[in-house]
Amino acid sequence: MENTLRLLYALQQVDLQLQEIHELKGDLPAVVAELEAKVNEMTSRLKELEKTVKQSKVERDKADSDIVTLAEKAEKYKGQQLQVKNNKQYDALTKEIELAQERSIKLQKDMELLEGRMQLAKTDAVVVATQLEEISVDYDERKKELKEVNKEHEKEELKFRHEREKLLARIKKEDFDRYERIQRAKGGTAVVPVKRGACGGCFSRVPPQKMLEIRQNTKLFMCEHCGRILVSDQVAEKSPAL
Ligand SMILES: [Zn+2]
Repeated sequence: MENTLRLLYALQQVDLQLQEIHELKGDLPAVVAELEAKVNEMTSRLKELEKTVKQSKVERDKADSDIVTLAEKAEKYKGQQLQVKNNKQYDALTKEIELAQERSIKLQKDMELLEGRMQLAKTDAVVVATQLEEISVDYDERKKELKEVNKEHEKEELKFRHEREKLLARIKKEDFDRYERIQRAKGGTAVVPVKRGACGGCFSRVPPQKMLEIRQNTKLFMCEHCGRILVSDQVAEKSPAL
């Protein structure tokens, strides 16, 4: 049992170190992730707008050339009307001319809509591109900052993570589960030494009889007030050094 207590106390020390590193980084990792998501979102929005501009232009140009073709057709029909032999043929050509004119009017309207859509997308694209540029500068700066902070603590972090893996391999699952449960409930500290007759977590007095039992290191004792695992000074001092 003394071994289990030592391992749990050592795990607690490692976790506190990792927590400290995590706190040093502050909200930087979250900020960088958020900026990255924004950059990606705006980049795809910009692509979408550029695609709209391109497509509208192609469709507009097509309508434009169709109008020219229709006008040519109408002129041709008008020429044919001068040579027809009867009213029936004349009327048939009149109908064709009218159809070409109607179609042309419809295409004019389409062109206006496409032109409007293109201009709107162009304007939006300029706005998005400007925002994207600003946010990209911010993103790059923050990313660089985070990289530096990570680099600064990388070795330490790796060392502690490795240490943690080694400890976990030696701690029974049920003990670790209990540790983790208390750790989560108590915001990080699950194992504390008894100091001057008081719990090292909540500073409540530990009864003398219990102190004696804790010193024997024969079982897991919880603080009656905060529920943290209590270890003796002896265990805390002789814990696998970090
Ligand atoms: Zn306590």
